[in-house]
Amino acid sequence: MAATALGTLFRGRGVRTWFDARGELLRAVDGVDFEVPRGGALGVVGESGSGKTQLFLSVLGLTSGLPGIVAGTAEFDGLDLLEGIEDFIRLDPSGRGFEALDTGGWRRRHQSRTKRLESRVSLLFQEPRSALLPYWTVQKHFKAVLAPAPDWRARAEAAIGELGFVDPGRVLGALPEELSGGEAQRVMLALSMVLHPDLLIADEPTTAVDAVSQTLILDRLVAMRRDPDFSLVIISHDLAVVKLLAGPVMVMFRGRVVERLHVDDVRGLESELTLADEAGSAPEDDRPHHHHPYTRELLLSQASRAAGLPIVVDGGGHGELEAVSSGCRYRGRCQLFRGTTLDPAVRTRCESDEPELREIGPDRSIACWAVAP
Ligand code: SF4
Repeated sequence: MAATALGTLFRGRGVRTWFDARGELLRAVDGVDFEVPRGGALGVVGESGSGKTQLFLSVLGLTSGLPGIVAGTAEFDGLDLLEGIEDFIRLDPSGRGFEALDTGGWRRRHQSRTKRLESRVSLLFQEPRSALLPYWTVQKHFKAVLAPAPDWRARAEAAIGELGFVDPGRVLGALPEELSGGEAQRVMLALSMVLHPDLLIADEPTTAVDAVSQTLILDRLVAMRRDPDFSLVIISHDLAVVKLLAGPVMVMFRGRVVERLHVDDVRGLESELTLADEAGSAPEDDRPHHHHPYTRELLLSQASRAAGLPIVVDGGGHGELEAVSSGCRYRGRCQLFRGTTLDPAVRTRCESDEPELREIGPDRSIACWAVAP
């Protein structure tokens, strides 16, 4: 995995977030390693239900009230957030379930530990209104974060001004319902950053906003990336956003990382797909693949969306968490598996064994039996 000269700020190993949903085990996150470079940015891409949001919410103790388990290790600047969880919740040795000994006790312990990160980690979600209190003005939100600092209002105005508001005074006096969705998201980003956290986790920050706000938010995030003391996790289904902001990228599908690569590799794959398109290559070609079929699908669907074409997903819808069967969890959607060029021995493996991530080059790993190193 990528490491920078400044090292790693936030690292997870073997993170599992499993839920017991009416007797069915849902593996929302299923053995994920991650590293957020200190002073750098990690991109996390995948469709809804891929586990990309749950991964960070669960290690930070922010998951819903469903009975579940978080396992593995998650270390933020030397603080192990999941230390001691085995005293409260145990994984079944078969790997098929878990035993909750004291979930309430674990929640209290976990939250007391993550509380220490309060001013060091900020979160920015897709729905800004759900994070703003509807009966508080914007000013009151800033005051709650900054007071009793005597210059709190000046700092609030400066933070708002950096998000493109020409009249910060008007915005500070507004209630959330008096702001557009894009304005509310810009306010949320200003609030998230006003205490200069070490890490911002931005989850689909531009998905539900107008084009102007999208540009202003991305410009601000790009500017913040120049600060060597600031780290970012950018979670998105949109590779264009990730390409703008991240260095290392991990691609997630149904709870697993299926590919790790660098944004430069994403750009390389994009031009490879464009060239193949221009050359009129058949969708099923027998050249060696160097990327996971799901990464290719993401890029192709993004290109279709950009061209205004319908996005077709064969063999299973987007989004739902599913119980895991044997073999590769992507195979119902995999064009390679469904085609005729796949080696029969590889095909059998796709059906029987879940592929693990294999390193295939510097900072690159892929979980696919068919991908050539
Ligand atoms: S392991 Fe097989 S089914 Fe899974 S992505 Fe690779 S080719 Fe497709």
